Amino acid sequence: MLETIVAPATPYGESSIGVIRISGSKALEIVKLLTKAKDFKNRYAHYRKIYLDNDIIDDAIVTFYESPNTYTGEDLVEISCHGSVIIIRTIVSELVNLGCLMAEPGEFTKRAFLNGKLDLLQAESITSIIKSKSDINLKNQQKILSGQLSNKLLTIKQKLLDVLSHFEHHLDIDEFDEVLELDNYIDSLNFIQKELKNLMDSFSMGKLYNDGLHVVICGKPNVGKSTLFNRMLNSDIAITSSEPGTTRDIINAEININGIPIKLFDTAGIRDSDNKVEKIGIDKAKKLSKIADLKLNIYDKIINRDSDLKKNEINIINKCDELSEGRYKDGFIYCSAKNNVGIDLIFDIIKEKLTLSKSTDGATFITSSRQHLNIKDAYHKIGVALENITNNNISIEILSLELREALDSIDLILGKTTPDDIINNIFSHMCVGK
Ligand code: GDP
Repeated sequence: MLETIVAPATPYGESSIGVIRISGSKALEIVKLLTKAKDFKNRYAHYRKIYLDNDIIDDAIVTFYESPNTYTGEDLVEISCHGSVIIIRTIVSELVNLGCLMAEPGEFTKRAFLNGKLDLLQAESITSIIKSKSDINLKNQQKILSGQLSNKLLTIKQKLLDVLSHFEHHLDIDEFDEVLELDNYIDSLNFIQKELKNLMDSFSMGKLYNDGLHVVICGKPNVGKSTLFNRMLNSDIAITSSEPGTTRDIINAEININGIPIKLFDTAGIRDSDNKVEKIGIDKAKKLSKIADLKLNIYDKIINRDSDLKKNEINIINKCDELSEGRYKDGFIYCSAKNNVGIDLIFDIIKEKLTLSKSTDGATFITSSRQHLNIKDAYHKIGVALENITNNNISIEILSLELREALDSIDLILGKTTPDDIINNIFSHMCVGK
């Protein structure tokens, strides 16, 4: 039997309440010792004193959830105490003294998974919900948690099982008694492949909404990069100055454009410099601009470089307030960061460049590389089986093997046959108390 575990479910810090969770067969017995109280009705909130030996540490609301209808599937108790770091630490340490074990990160959800309360897809969605930085991602993860994606995969799996069971039945009987018309299965396999392809393609969208994008502002010193950075964030995070070379380290902050979390970076101005610290900053800026999803090249005068503009670059002429009439040239966005002119246009072009105007159509999209990899595997295995059927050069035995491998990949996504190390890795990235 698993140990009874405890962890704070809310982050340490000052707050009106803090929640401590206990899960396991001894949860109630231990909480009775902690509160010196006997009566705890299932799913009722009880006002109780919390004791350390004979001293009262706090008064709290204690709720007992009897297994199996709980988050973890085990007996579960939640203590809502005052949100003081000292109180929470003292209660948790007293619970450990009374027989609980400190929970590992994600251990409550891992137990929920092991007790069949959720599959691996749903467990992963819980981490994403907690960490979500955009409304669209949050909605998507909630759909996954409610089982929409799992159901889709289960439908695909059932279709695959239907085909596979025909093949395996054929192998069980005498092959020469009956000829299996393989062409009859092409439509089903095409359907499965199309569904898998849709899920596979949804990953780029999922990644966008889950992980967001990196946009870097770069250019020579003094062109107004930090002023533009501040203006785009509507804040004054970065120091701006008429003295060149003020920004040395990389500064970043998050904004949200069309529901997509964007990490915006302000970098050191690129120039030849003998200053050691500035050179480090320039190096960092160059490296970052190479890996960014989008680069905003800032200038303060017209330059001749529209021909070598890359797909993920936008050329911006800042300080347009200083430009004389007739000095405007196509291919640049003109703005004045200082006077708040043209900033909306910059956002519009960013959306256009990153195709952020695309509708998400309410579809569920996959967001983790693990899910993507396994779906891709299943897709390719079905592809191989289809090719072999079309070329008419394969035994039913080999075809069954290919379909079984595709089935295994789908089971891996749902966590049915996932190896322990992968499962442990998924849960260890969750927070303590979840
Ligand atoms: P950075 O070195 O590229 O980050 O440039 P800063 O943002 O520190 O700005 C350098 C100088 O240009 C500062 O004195 C800013 O006030 C000024 N500046 C920034 N944007 C504009 C603008 O749109 N128009 C004008 N006239 N000056 C600006």
